[in-house]
Amino acid sequence: MKGQWTVLLPEPIEDEARELLEKSGARVVQSPDKTPATVGPLMAEADAVVLRTGIKMNAELLAKGTRLKMVSRTGAGYDNVDVEAATAGNVIVSSSLGANTTTVAEHALALIFALYKQLPILDRETRKGNFKIRYAYLPRDMRGKTLGVIGFGRIGSEIAHACHDSFGMKIIAYDEYLPAKVKAELASWVEFTELNDLCARSDIITMHVPLTEGTKGLIGTSRLALMKKDTVIVNTSRGGVIDETALALALNEKRIGGAGLDVFEDEPPKADNPLLACENAILTPHAAALTQECVVRMAVLGAQRVIDLMNGFEPGNVANPQVLATERWKGLKKKA
Ligand code: NAD
Repeated sequence: MKGQWTVLLPEPIEDEARELLEKSGARVVQSPDKTPATVGPLMAEADAVVLRTGIKMNAELLAKGTRLKMVSRTGAGYDNVDVEAATAGNVIVSSSLGANTTTVAEHALALIFALYKQLPILDRETRKGNFKIRYAYLPRDMRGKTLGVIGFGRIGSEIAHACHDSFGMKIIAYDEYLPAKVKAELASWVEFTELNDLCARSDIITMHVPLTEGTKGLIGTSRLALMKKDTVIVNTSRGGVIDETALALALNEKRIGGAGLDVFEDEPPKADNPLLACENAILTPHAAALTQECVVRMAVLGAQRVIDLMNGFEPGNVANPQVLATERWKGLKKKA
């Protein structure tokens, strides 16, 4: 690609990624803050944007990017990018899907363990001097229990493997789009079933679907009512896939055993979000992928995708591959 590229950073990225962009010859522009009012005017000079989650790259902002070629997400999801509007402008949208798989899987497992072993309450009571809490026999065994995986993609399958191979759990799963052939190959250790059946039979449920029109409110009042009294549910995907009001009610009425949530419909959750007051919920601040190692990995990959395009190569993990067939991009080379 001819000429120096300007890469806009609405939020700071890790030094390693920024240096990679600079070394490749790009001009890096750091927005002083992530508000649309500040980022908007900077869009006019941007050839590419490396995007974290703090700002929505909506149609209005994209329209200001008159020379914009690419939006490169450092994370896995695209839900803060108007992919349709980007596609209409032949702007490539890419992500670092896969770079955080094991890291998020570890976080979901941490939530599962903390809930199933009742770590918050045991910690609290021990500090209070209530050592006798040990005789309340609050923790549960995971071996032999049933794990329900909603969305059997990268992260869901990683957790399923760990729970099956290391802890002898039975794995059931629900996935609308996994091809039947793949499901058949997994049949020796994963039973694919309908969502209502999964809700009724699982001891532990873990959610790994993207947020789409099809997954919004996937778990709501009626499916919570199907769950067993001691089922725990973990969500590290996106807040919108669970109806938060219904979940808080089920938790407060002790109709389910507990919840571990890394994501919320509004982030940060509003002060009146009922989940904040649920004792049997463990909450983390959308931090599942934010380990010291993973943030560097994701940002470097996000930067590398921009550099690839800058050098005339097709970037990986393109969310809107149809733009690659347009006049603007049809000459791109495939990376070896
Ligand atoms: P993935 O694309 O590998 O897997 C998603 C799976 O969901 C796929 O197998 C797909 O077939 C299935 N699916 C899609 N729509 C469905 C539907 N309507 N019903 C049932 N199944 C459906 O993605 P992944 O890497 O495993 O990540 C899963 C999600 O986790 C991402 O979409 C992202 O939103 C979220 N995530 C969160 C964090 C975090 O920091 N908490 C980090 C990474 C990813």
